[in-house]
Amino acid sequence: MDFRFTPEEEALRKEFDDFFKEEMKKAPPQWGTSMEAIFGIDECWEFHEQTARKLAAKDWLARPWPREYGGQDASLVEQFIFNDVMGYHRGAGVDHWGIALLAPTLLFSANDEQKREHLPPIARAEIFWTQLWSEPGAGSDLASLTTRAVRDGDDYIISGQKTWTSGGHRADWGFMLARTNPEEKRSRGLSFFLVDMKSPGITIEPILNLEGSHLFNEVFLDDVRVPARNMVGGENQGWVASQMTSNFERSMIQLFAYLTRELEELVEFCKEPKWGGEVLANNPLVRHTLAQLAIEIEAGRAFSYSILWEQMKGGLIMAAPLAAAAKALATELVQRFTYAGSEILGLYGQVKESRWAPLQGRFEKEYQLCPGLNMAGGTSEIMRNLICSLGLGLPRSW
Ligand SMILES: Cc1cc2nc3c(=O)[nH]c(=O)nc-3n(C[C@H](O)[C@H](O)[C@H](O)COP(=O)(O)OP(=O)(O)OC[C@H]3O[C@@H](n4cnc5c(N)ncnc54)[C@H](O)[C@@H]3O)c2cc1C
Repeated sequence: MDFRFTPEEEALRKEFDDFFKEEMKKAPPQWGTSMEAIFGIDECWEFHEQTARKLAAKDWLARPWPREYGGQDASLVEQFIFNDVMGYHRGAGVDHWGIALLAPTLLFSANDEQKREHLPPIARAEIFWTQLWSEPGAGSDLASLTTRAVRDGDDYIISGQKTWTSGGHRADWGFMLARTNPEEKRSRGLSFFLVDMKSPGITIEPILNLEGSHLFNEVFLDDVRVPARNMVGGENQGWVASQMTSNFERSMIQLFAYLTRELEELVEFCKEPKWGGEVLANNPLVRHTLAQLAIEIEAGRAFSYSILWEQMKGGLIMAAPLAAAAKALATELVQRFTYAGSEILGLYGQVKESRWAPLQGRFEKEYQLCPGLNMAGGTSEIMRNLICSLGLGLPRSW
């Protein structure tokens, strides 16, 4: 198998690399890659928006989409390279929900009018999106959700409550699942809506996480009118589109690039003499831990190449078991990496961002945030259930 990129692709990689190297020098000091910083800190959000507009001006946000919807008809490999470079630089400017989740779903499931209305503003970084799926009583078992949408003339009237809505307080629009058939308690009664977050009847309340950041929100919907033309995929047909969205959410390719950078910095840290002249890299336990992480990150990168290959054969479609495997592998590796790095840093790994904190205090922060990655977009247990039932052909356990 030949893993090399073409000279043109390598030139493109350099262009992306030069951009992010320069651009990220301007990032606010609190910038990491955490969603908590992007959505919780005003300077980080402004920087994210500004970078998004610069990326849009270069036509880099939506390269593989058709030109008529704001894309460049570019190959998926170019998108892969972009994600790889962005992940490595802890880059800003990509609306995760709009670009990575909703847009590919619309390309497959929306009608032409919906694509023309909603895709170009995402490509131009004019509209930012959020995901309105989870409810207080429906997370892993999303198909049991109870938010109701009732047809009224040319509109649907939506009432209910959503929770854990990441970045909902910054978003212009949200994509939502709501129940259009109350007789059908499971997935066959659900529809997929595009909702303007400024619609009358929407109230957004913050939920602060353990670390004190404002990423999550509760979103209350009181008789919110949504035009029927904003329903994607037909009444009671929303589950098919939503599963496609979930698979895109779970591909996680840029996390391996992000870990590559994190490992490089941890290794550099271990090479320098530290407290009392000790060089951590001389410690056999530290060395073995770093080697093990390097092996796992490299295996993850190879896996992300194979996903790209499958997507190229299948025309972008992410197979559910593959997406579930990528999600579990990447997010659990982030957790193992963070815990191992924190142990290597010892008590200094627990120091908050300050002149005393090694590596800008990232491990202290990430230690608290990384378990959330295993839950966001479906927990590791659910990913394993999907791998068993859809990948290995075992009977469903739920
Ligand atoms: C960082 C973060 C960001 C998020 N962002 C969003 C967002 O933007 N929009 C949104 O809609 N939601 C969001 N969520 C919510 C997320 O989708 C849910 O947390 C997730 O689906 C799990 O649901 P739950 O929290 O209700 O846990 P539960 O479903 O109550 O699960 C509790 C525990 O039981 C286990 N479990 C449940 N069912 C099974 C089963 N059948 N087999 C084995 N184990 C099982 C789970 O694995 C988990 O350990 C976010 C969550 C996090 C942590």
